[in-house]
Amino acid sequence: MSTKSPNSPTCLVLYSGGLDSIIACKILQEQGIHVIALCFITPFFGYKLKSRKNTSKKKVLADHGIQFEEIDISDAYLKMVKNPKHGYGKYMNPCIDCKILMVQNAIKRLGELNASFVATGDILGQRPMSQRRDALRIIERDSGADGLLLRPLSALHLPATDIENKGLVDRSRLLGLSGRGRKDQIVLAGRYGIKEYPAPAGGCVLADPILSQRLKRMFDLWPELDVNDCVLAQIGRHFFLPGGSWLVIGRDEKENAKIISLIRKGDIKLDLARVPGPTGLWRKVNTGAYTDIAASILCRYTKVKKHPEEVKLSSHGTEKIKIIRTLPASDDTINRYRM
Ligand code: SF4
Repeated sequence: MSTKSPNSPTCLVLYSGGLDSIIACKILQEQGIHVIALCFITPFFGYKLKSRKNTSKKKVLADHGIQFEEIDISDAYLKMVKNPKHGYGKYMNPCIDCKILMVQNAIKRLGELNASFVATGDILGQRPMSQRRDALRIIERDSGADGLLLRPLSALHLPATDIENKGLVDRSRLLGLSGRGRKDQIVLAGRYGIKEYPAPAGGCVLADPILSQRLKRMFDLWPELDVNDCVLAQIGRHFFLPGGSWLVIGRDEKENAKIISLIRKGDIKLDLARVPGPTGLWRKVNTGAYTDIAASILCRYTKVKKHPEEVKLSSHGTEKIKIIRTLPASDDTINRYRM
């Protein structure tokens, strides 16, 4: 980990794990600036940081001697996603408001982390929604970051900031990248010895067409959707059953474990009673009806295909257990309820 020299300013960099944000860190480090990477935790990205000690994100930062801080903005983020002031992109991605919220939170941490300004890996014109010239300006203005926000990769295309004017950063050593191409960034990755980085735009589930569709439908059905619901919405197979309930079935052991970690009071857990198989979580169940459908859907994703199997339904937070003997659901049932 690089240590801060007494006279060097400190900068907080919004760190997504993508190549552009790590290049932003390196450009500033190269000028002797102490960099603290901010890793945001939201229900839609960064959530793994909450449970895992060593994510690939943290590893890359450690490899490059960059200090990092985690900021959990899950509740505020979810509120924003439900009603973004600047609207959505192609899917459920509220990119402008997303950036505003992160910059706003970074600004709030300046004092506590003894930092002078905030930087991002934004590249002018790279993304259609949040990296247009006017959008970059809106983000700066609406986050309250006037004079405190630097975009080191595109700085030479933008007016000089107070940060440069005050001499905290040497503008002549900042870059003038723009547009969608990645050639320059790949060259910079080689120069800075950055070997591990994800594909562009990878990782944001809000820009995923299938997930966005599911989330949209869920926000319409259940405006009170919370963080746990949103995390659950991203794993497994999903079914919306009659009566307004929601069934999730794990696709592998990892998903089964994740589902178990999200179970809460009022949920019903489904397992095969006698043989190993997937785990199901049935939520928002208001009626005892439809247990046969839920059990048969779980059965559908086991090796049992032709004969009835016993499914155990356990109500979380109570001792109530029900065993249902059922055949796997038909194609018709699966297609009718699958989301
Ligand atoms: S792609 Fe996702 S993480 Fe990136 S700005 Fe848009 S909403 Fe935020």
